[in-house]
Amino acid sequence: MRTPLQTALLEIRSCLGEASIHTDPETVERLSRCTLPLPNRAAAFVYPSSIDEIQQLLIIANRHRVPVWPCSQGRNWGYGSANPFLEGSIVMVLARLNHILEVNETLAYAVIEPGVTYRQLNAHLKSQGDKLWADCTDGPPDGSVLGNALERGIGETPYGDHFGNLCGLEIVLPSGEVIHTGGGPPGSKTWHTHKWGIGPYLEGLFSQSNFGVVTKAGVWLMPRPEAYNSFVFQLSWAKDFGRVLDVLRALALQRVLPTTIHMINAFVSLAVLTRYPFHLLQDQTFLPEEVIARLQQEYGVAPWTFSTGLYGTRAQVRVNRAIVKKALKPYGRLEFLDDRKVRWVSQVVPWLKRAQSYPLLAPLSRWVVRGGLRSSLALFDAVPYIHGILKGIPTEYFVRHAYFKSNHPRPDQDVHPARDSCGLFWFAPILPFTGQAVSEFLNVAQGLFHEQGFDLYVALLVMNPRSIVALMAILYRKEDAAETHRASVLYERLCALVLSEGYQQYRAAMPAWRGLFDQAPGFLKLCDTLKSAVDPNNIMAPGHYGIGLSHVRPHKDTQ
Ligand code: ADP
Repeated sequence: MRTPLQTALLEIRSCLGEASIHTDPETVERLSRCTLPLPNRAAAFVYPSSIDEIQQLLIIANRHRVPVWPCSQGRNWGYGSANPFLEGSIVMVLARLNHILEVNETLAYAVIEPGVTYRQLNAHLKSQGDKLWADCTDGPPDGSVLGNALERGIGETPYGDHFGNLCGLEIVLPSGEVIHTGGGPPGSKTWHTHKWGIGPYLEGLFSQSNFGVVTKAGVWLMPRPEAYNSFVFQLSWAKDFGRVLDVLRALALQRVLPTTIHMINAFVSLAVLTRYPFHLLQDQTFLPEEVIARLQQEYGVAPWTFSTGLYGTRAQVRVNRAIVKKALKPYGRLEFLDDRKVRWVSQVVPWLKRAQSYPLLAPLSRWVVRGGLRSSLALFDAVPYIHGILKGIPTEYFVRHAYFKSNHPRPDQDVHPARDSCGLFWFAPILPFTGQAVSEFLNVAQGLFHEQGFDLYVALLVMNPRSIVALMAILYRKEDAAETHRASVLYERLCALVLSEGYQQYRAAMPAWRGLFDQAPGFLKLCDTLKSAVDPNNIMAPGHYGIGLSHVRPHKDTQ
């Protein structure tokens, strides 16, 4: 006799067609790969191509009570990739719903489907005359714009609060019913321009949750500014770290600096620029301070570095540049970049690189880079990517950091850490934007990293002028069972630390979901009550962010 799952898969196959479903174990294993330890095995990967097919799929799932795990591109690396929380779920990938339905130049927004990627949106806007810029992350260019926004991801430009810049959602509820947020009549002319609609604001319910599948959304875009400068700041002395954060907060509160500044420690810079120097480890499994200091010298890397952009009219950029210079100059080195300078760097770097392989020219090349430009070639290489991403041009350049400790050769293209078995957890507590709060938390976190034998990898992402995300990566080698275990223990301890310090995470990886709201039972109860109302059979992404776990029954039945 067939199990409910087997019957459901047969029905889905007959509705959507053979080409839209993968159930063979090898393909399912490949698609399930995840940078976290021990991925949960999905039963199938299904690729609907229309709302009608999504509805049919959900009706079948309800009929047979089988869980469905929606994702847009499934590149949520470090948090869970395309991996379902429950074994035996049907993963519904929305990559084929990839239309850019509208670009409104006057009101600066686009309407897109979930399969639209950063690369695609950026290329489309360029082909339309480059009048609007879309934000992107420093993650995968082929990640989904909507998938990241629904997880409340953070980008690079003043439009970097991705969920904050969504406006007007179309949603298929678990029952298969389609709704539009905003409370207006269908096709309301301000659906994508007025975020709050009329009546209760419901859009937040569909982010970091499991109440529906988002099939369309308005995304606000930045009109290309008259002037744009990026700049890189390198802190001279680690002791000034807290003071510089306070300066940045003041500049962000005054709106001199856009938010979404990313400030990285020396270890992150090294992870982007090179491979892990295992040969320099001494009697421990993380790099001693003096080794990091030596590598900093070699690569021209500061204890902390950040880059951001200045956008506006020529006059605004000129004034803000002068304010930034005055505020930050006492603490480190500032390098302003514009399109012309970046073009020059892009032309010169290949020459300098080539010169290094000729014995007579190598010293000259080294002198130009070290003496004249006070930098390293590796750092120079990064300049065009830094300048580009701050205009929303996606790149694979930064994602390569996930291969820092991996045996796998670091690819220049088609970067895919989940496929290539890289080990990566993201841990992302949100902290008040003060030098003192951030320094105190990082000191304790560093103790936990070292206790478990890992280097502290931290990028501070300015979420808004009042809060900062301390985004930490645990990079581990999956083939080393002991290291993998230590990585899981470290992640668990960090999650506990956040709560004991009175903070919370801004976004959480799958292993954290079970206990995420242990200290907020009333909040969880309300979420579960809403879940029962919209999804009585608990078929949609049960367990996502801990919601719907109270009525989960084990879905272990396999084909
Ligand atoms: P990306 O490829 O941009 O990293 P994903 O497609 O992996 O994004 O999405 C991240 C998470 O967001 C998914 O695991 C899922 O929980 C949720 N999600 C993504 N897209 C949708 C959607 N269209 N509707 C509902 N939830 C979604």
